Amino acid sequence: MKPLPFTKQEIEKIMQQFPTPFYVYDETGIRANAKKLKHAFRKVHGFKEYFAVKALPNPFILKILKEEGFGADCSSLPELMLAQKVGIVGENMMFTSNDTPAPEFAMAKKLGAIVNLDDISHLSYLEQSAGLPPLLCFRYNPGKLREGNAIIGKPEEAKYGLTKEQLFTAYQQAKAKGVKRFGLHTMIASNERSEEYFVETAKMLFALVQEISSTVGISFEFINIGGGIGIPYRPEQQPVSYEKIADGIEQAYHKMITKHGLPSLKIFMECGRVITGPYGFLITQVLHLKHTYKDYVGCDACMANLMRPAMYGAYHHITVLGKEQAKGHHVYDVTGSLCENNDKFAIDRPLPEIERGDLLAIHDAGAHGHAMGFQYNGKLRSAELLLRSNGEVIMIRRAETPDDYFSTLDFSALQRFE
Ligand SMILES: *Cc1c(COP(=O)(O)O)cnc(C)c1O
Repeated sequence: MKPLPFTKQEIEKIMQQFPTPFYVYDETGIRANAKKLKHAFRKVHGFKEYFAVKALPNPFILKILKEEGFGADCSSLPELMLAQKVGIVGENMMFTSNDTPAPEFAMAKKLGAIVNLDDISHLSYLEQSAGLPPLLCFRYNPGKLREGNAIIGKPEEAKYGLTKEQLFTAYQQAKAKGVKRFGLHTMIASNERSEEYFVETAKMLFALVQEISSTVGISFEFINIGGGIGIPYRPEQQPVSYEKIADGIEQAYHKMITKHGLPSLKIFMECGRVITGPYGFLITQVLHLKHTYKDYVGCDACMANLMRPAMYGAYHHITVLGKEQAKGHHVYDVTGSLCENNDKFAIDRPLPEIERGDLLAIHDAGAHGHAMGFQYNGKLRSAELLLRSNGEVIMIRRAETPDDYFSTLDFSALQRFE
């Protein structure tokens, strides 16, 4: 069993105002988690978390996280604009993108964001498109030296980052072009639940910083160990211990930096999933039950609302509201209405017996959930609601209507079109 921050009665009350499907986020859970992370990392030198905006790009959530002391990690022009709108600017903003268009670099530079380059060729591209900022960071891809995982791919097959050899040249060139301040970034795993993995990543960057500093003759202000801390999607899994990661990094820092009298380094992170993932739920109502070669539950939400199960075969726990205590004696495929057979939230999932009208809470949808929504098959994105710490429920994004679907089309031009 996985806990829920609301009861069936509370959801039914919300439904009088907001029809299903909708997302609901738990402010209390998000704030408590942010505080827990900050508390664990208080011992880590210069620690700062830059929330990966792509995980949950909603200004209300960003405002909460800003209040909790987080910055924003943006990867596109609209994400930069979104962070700016809630007042996250300057070096509270990280710009980590790849295959980046010139106007996006220009915007990042204008806002004073920390620019994190994904390739050696982006140095001259950035110089030509926006001019070089005083502070630059490069993304390291360790290739065969590290294992990746299913979501992000093996490092040597992942499109991201520079090789080790390229890094030396890149910092050399940046130095020659007058860049004065430097950072080093990597992001090589996603949904990783081993604490040791992040400690190893920090150690790898501590060592690399020393190597580059002495070879190139520059000093570094920070390392950014990326995002990727995993969450327990399955009820039998345990949450990652922030304390273990922070303790491991702090000890490595002492051994590899402090003890050798090396210049101090700030440690940054850009997690998305672990920050908001467990505190978001997709609420959907059962429209149909279908019994053919298998037993199907047909929901009013579909893969256009939550793509992770279809995209990665990801597990998302499902609770049938009001049947929390019932045993899972029935095996169902829980589906949406897209004309794609991978439009399934769960396959062969043991659940209590389901009836038409039942309400399902799909767990751990607070990151890479609504954000990955799309309009294929004329499906519209759902509303996002926030369950406030004071018990109030507010709408933080309305549901799309057919007008939104048509808003990029010009029907008067169609009438003139022959
Ligand atoms: C997606 C992404 C993140 C966040 O990853 P999570 O798994 O949500 O923590 C951080 N940094 C970069 C560069 C990313 O692409």
